[in-house]
Amino acid sequence: MRSRPIGFLLSTLAGAALAFGGATATASANPSSAPETGSASVGAARAADGCYTWSGTLREGSSGEAVRQLQIRVAGYPGTGNQIAIDGAFGPATKAAVTRFQAAYGLAADGIAGPATFSKIYQLQDDDCTPVNFTYAELNRCNSDWSGGKVSAATARANALVTMWKLQAMRHAMGDRPITVNGGFRSVSCNSAVGGAANSRHMYGHAADLGAGSQGFCALAQAARNHGFTEILGPGYPGHNDHTHVAGGSGRFWSAPSCGI
Ligand SMILES: [Zn+2]
Repeated sequence: MRSRPIGFLLSTLAGAALAFGGATATASANPSSAPETGSASVGAARAADGCYTWSGTLREGSSGEAVRQLQIRVAGYPGTGNQIAIDGAFGPATKAAVTRFQAAYGLAADGIAGPATFSKIYQLQDDDCTPVNFTYAELNRCNSDWSGGKVSAATARANALVTMWKLQAMRHAMGDRPITVNGGFRSVSCNSAVGGAANSRHMYGHAADLGAGSQGFCALAQAARNHGFTEILGPGYPGHNDHTHVAGGSGRFWSAPSCGI
């Protein structure tokens, strides 16, 4: 900033403070240079993001909605074959997921979510809380209101949000190249219309069908194992030679025989 008379500077700072008090300010600080913990400069009143702003550091033992919001964002970092609970309780699995997220983005990997971690998340999310490279529209080509599935519309939409954050983690791990999503949530009638399985996870909002993109079906299926997908169906599994299906939810079922899965 250039030198200014002190009165002007003070009024400018006051204006900036007001601007940052709104919900539209975007995080632009270099996260790698920010202190991870103990910063008094991140005030509880400052809304850093249009979707959700964390007001304090979270660590193992923390609990509540702030933790639950964090868990959604790091759901794609559970470790191979695992899935983390989105339950608002910051336990060892959440700590490990936060650590993997931090490592993936070159942050100090200590499993404690502080300003640097939150700054990175703010960079990665849109104002509707979806990760920047995925949209609710991509995850629902069936209807506009998420109704008619096996769970409430709100639950289906929430499940799709978690699926998107898993896909964002997978996308980053695969070199940040676009991942093609050809569909996700299906109402019961949409599922019937496409001949989906009777208890398809598409009806819960958990599932996404991926196009080959630049990665190829097998590379997508293989990578999905590392990012919280409990159901992976790909080439060699009946009906899945033309897409890779990934989904969350309870119980593991992976089958893509042509890909060694
Ligand atoms: Zn599918």
